[in-house]
Amino acid sequence: MIEENFTVSLTCLFCDVGLEGDTCVEYKSGDLIKCQNCDAENDYGSLIEIAKSKGIEKVKLDIENELKNIFKKFK
Ligand SMILES: [Zn+2]
Repeated sequence: MIEENFTVSLTCLFCDVGLEGDTCVEYKSGDLIKCQNCDAENDYGSLIEIAKSKGIEKVKLDIENELKNIFKKFK
């Protein structure tokens, strides 16, 4: 399975640096995660949406590459 070994990290909406959320805290939509780099507060719900779309893009690319490889064999 492609999905099993891929992870998407959350990045700051303002400076694109990877966010280091507090691992003791379980974040939920509406929470704000403060960026340790630029001090901006990121909305957790928005971060998840972006992470999801990034993840989907990555899975799409993986599948595309896989399909290309499969089709190459038939040429
Ligand atoms: Zn930032």
